[in-house]
Amino acid sequence: MTQRLRSILRSVGWTCDGDSPLHVILVGSGIGGLAAALALSARGVRVTLLEQAAAIETVGAGVQLSANATRLLFRLGLETPLRAVASAPEAVDVRDHSTSALNLHTRLGAFGEMRWGAPYLQIHRADLQRLLLDATASKRSVDLRLGAKVEAIDDDGARAYARLNGGEAIAGDAVIGCDGIHSTVRAALWGERAARFVGQAAWRGLALADRLPPGIVAAIAGVWTGADRHFVHYPVRGGALINVVGVVEQRRWRAESWTAEADRSLFAADFQGWPAPIPELIAAVETPWLFAIHDRAPLARWSKGRLSLLGDAAHPAPPFLAQGAAMAIEDGEALARHIAARPDVAVALAAYEDERKARTTRVQAWSRRNARLFHLPSLAARGLFGAVAQVDRLRGAPPEARLDWLYGYQPPS
Ligand SMILES: Cc1cc2nc3c(=O)[nH]c(=O)nc-3n(C[C@H](O)[C@H](O)[C@H](O)COP(=O)(O)OP(=O)(O)OC[C@H]3O[C@@H](n4cnc5c(N)ncnc54)[C@H](O)[C@@H]3O)c2cc1C
Repeated sequence: MTQRLRSILRSVGWTCDGDSPLHVILVGSGIGGLAAALALSARGVRVTLLEQAAAIETVGAGVQLSANATRLLFRLGLETPLRAVASAPEAVDVRDHSTSALNLHTRLGAFGEMRWGAPYLQIHRADLQRLLLDATASKRSVDLRLGAKVEAIDDDGARAYARLNGGEAIAGDAVIGCDGIHSTVRAALWGERAARFVGQAAWRGLALADRLPPGIVAAIAGVWTGADRHFVHYPVRGGALINVVGVVEQRRWRAESWTAEADRSLFAADFQGWPAPIPELIAAVETPWLFAIHDRAPLARWSKGRLSLLGDAAHPAPPFLAQGAAMAIEDGEALARHIAARPDVAVALAAYEDERKARTTRVQAWSRRNARLFHLPSLAARGLFGAVAQVDRLRGAPPEARLDWLYGYQPPS
């Protein structure tokens, strides 16, 4: 952009890439760090993004992005690339595995897009990460440093500091920990505490759609419930891949790696006797992974002076409401809005935390509640889902209304 164009834009109140005198240091370039970098950059704030990995490994499987997240990503200019690589399910169907009875049908697709103002999309995590990385790479005001592991943070009142493993200290106006559930920044701010193993492990993998019998999986998100386990499948990458997750209550497997390969026959044994398409999906998974699920109780506070947290570093939850990435993306938008609006960074971070805490705590509680709901024995599940449907009928509300607070979220302007 030429100097002349910049001065014209500024004269009509626009901010340009890198305009603000503020400089924010983000620790961690997961979905949360990348989305926050874009949101800050869109408000003219300069960003240094510090990532411990020497190269960005685009690993993982499926991620669900409900309307509250896609709306914000679209505002960052990502609508076209997102729609190009994602899949848009028509509905979420929750079925009992023993009878295949449909206990809950939530409409998404065009209905959801109309109701919540943006689509519900399912995407390969690697695709989302690549897309965010490409967008940040095009921003002059974002400096991504790989192989930059943050070991300590500090705030002397006038500046905030991130100290790297090699000893280098980087100064900025704020340091925000976007460094995931085992956050170094969180430990430095609020003390070292181990994450809590929730007593469940998730089998995960991606099945090649063309290895499946034709028509066996619909263009929906399918959830199959059972006593002490449940199974989820949904298409990603335009339907070429089906993301597969089987969650089992167990105490044996405690490893948290996203890439720990596991034995397919054990995966199949855990869901033996479950109806189609479950055995077919397990057989078609390219590489089965096993991942022990951890979470943490909500923090009393996130921010201290010029230091704060974002995404899983602040409010990790088990994945049963599919809101981990969405909450991190919402956090990034709120952080950027408060930082850009207030000259005092510590005041901005306190306001950011105030705005975000109640909502993310509610999401953490709902995520835990869903873990119990999906693992009820058949009769109890039928009774409970039936009672919920009856309440909806009495209220004259469609079942989707229960999700308005979550998917219909509009950040304050
Ligand atoms: C490798 C991986 C694979 C995943 N796969 C899936 C999946 O398949 N499906 C799904 O739903 N969710 C997945 N998730 C989780 C999901 O991405 C997150 O829950 C959600 O997007 C919130 O992200 P976040 O940015 O807050 O944290 P994270 O995604 O955990 O990102 C944290 C980032 O911080 C970096 N970091 C950590 N410590 C430091 C440090 N000291 N200094 C510098 N950098 C640091 C990490 O390397 C990482 O890049 C995955 C997460 C990871 C890390």
